Amino acid sequence: MSAPSTSVAATGTADAEPAIVFDRVGVRYGRGRKATAALTDFTLRVAAGETVALLGPSGSGKSTALKALAGFVRPSAGAVRLSGRDVTDLSPAKRGIGVVVQSYALFPHMRVRDNVAFGLRAHRVPRGRVRERVGEALEMVGMAAYADRLPRELSGGQQQRVAIARALAIRPKVLLLDEPLAALDAQLRQSMLTELQDLRKALPDTAMLYVTHDQSEALALADRIAVMRDARLVDIDTAENLWRRPPSSFTAAFLGGANLVPCTVKHVSGTAAFVTSGTRTLRAEAPTPGVGQLDWAPDDEGLLCVRPHTVRIGTTAEREALPATVLSAVWRGATTRLRLDVNGLPVELLADVPGQADHAVGAVVGVLLPDPAGVLIPAPVGGERG
Ligand code: ADP
Ligand code: MG
Repeated sequence: MSAPSTSVAATGTADAEPAIVFDRVGVRYGRGRKATAALTDFTLRVAAGETVALLGPSGSGKSTALKALAGFVRPSAGAVRLSGRDVTDLSPAKRGIGVVVQSYALFPHMRVRDNVAFGLRAHRVPRGRVRERVGEALEMVGMAAYADRLPRELSGGQQQRVAIARALAIRPKVLLLDEPLAALDAQLRQSMLTELQDLRKALPDTAMLYVTHDQSEALALADRIAVMRDARLVDIDTAENLWRRPPSSFTAAFLGGANLVPCTVKHVSGTAAFVTSGTRTLRAEAPTPGVGQLDWAPDDEGLLCVRPHTVRIGTTAEREALPATVLSAVWRGATTRLRLDVNGLPVELLADVPGQADHAVGAVVGVLLPDPAGVLIPAPVGGERG
């Protein structure tokens, strides 16, 4: 067998280079004892055409990661690469990245068309081409009719569309969006979310990094979700995997909300297990653990992740029903959230039941857990917060 020619091998390597690479990136703000580690040992790859959401609470380092890639902050460790090229020391304008931030950041004295043209002029696109590219970008976001307006003559949603058009005008291979919907009201956010889904389809080769603290945006838009906490990436997987089988209690709680019931493994068979919690024995899904983690085994301590919307409320007469006392009931529109003291379980349980449930505080009900009751998650190790 002959080895492949070097040119073929080289092409193969180039094609395999991810559009975005964070390679053990660290960012610190300030110096000495007052320094904040805003990003620690952050490694992430995003393929061309892929959308990854950076999801995490406020202050977890999401924007810092995005700024390190865009070139607005200088990493104190590690490297960032675009299609295999190390850009860690390159100026922001030379990276050719489209960036959209929460506050739109449009130039207030410039008309829409000039705002959108701004990046093109900076990139020295010939004058004749600028017009065409501006039209094309405004068309993509449905704002072609507003080219002669000033930003103050537009609604918030329209301004954000213009900001997106400005980012798209340079035809970037990489598009970064930092909480682009956060400043919009709930209804507009929903319709913009649909538009962003359409935009993704219209840009099949563009890598997108989408920063948000809102799990519903991450679930709606991302191929994969990277969950961040305290300057670190804690979990990364497809949205579906993180939702169905959260690898950590933090991700379980942050993505979807969860009851985390302390339990002890009694018996494991494949991906099914029996666990005990308090005086109860429950069936659990025991997913194959992640790399570097041991298989589930009897006597392991874990957390059973029970999603509130999977808990049903019936009467204590029903078979399998666990008697429980209603501690509180809060109507939230489509659902009512019940807080329950379940007989035999060591922790309170939250249940989201459809509609406006009329359970009085203090009433005794029958709690019906799904089968399996939930997914096993490793218990947080010493010192780590749940
Ligand atoms: P997120 O976008 O997830 O809300 P950030 O990346 O903005 O988080 O911030 C991460 C951490 O770095 C926070 O503790 C924040 O207070 C701190 N930080 C962010 N920007 C600066 C700055 N310019 N100077 C000092 N600290 C900063
Ligand atoms: Mg931020």
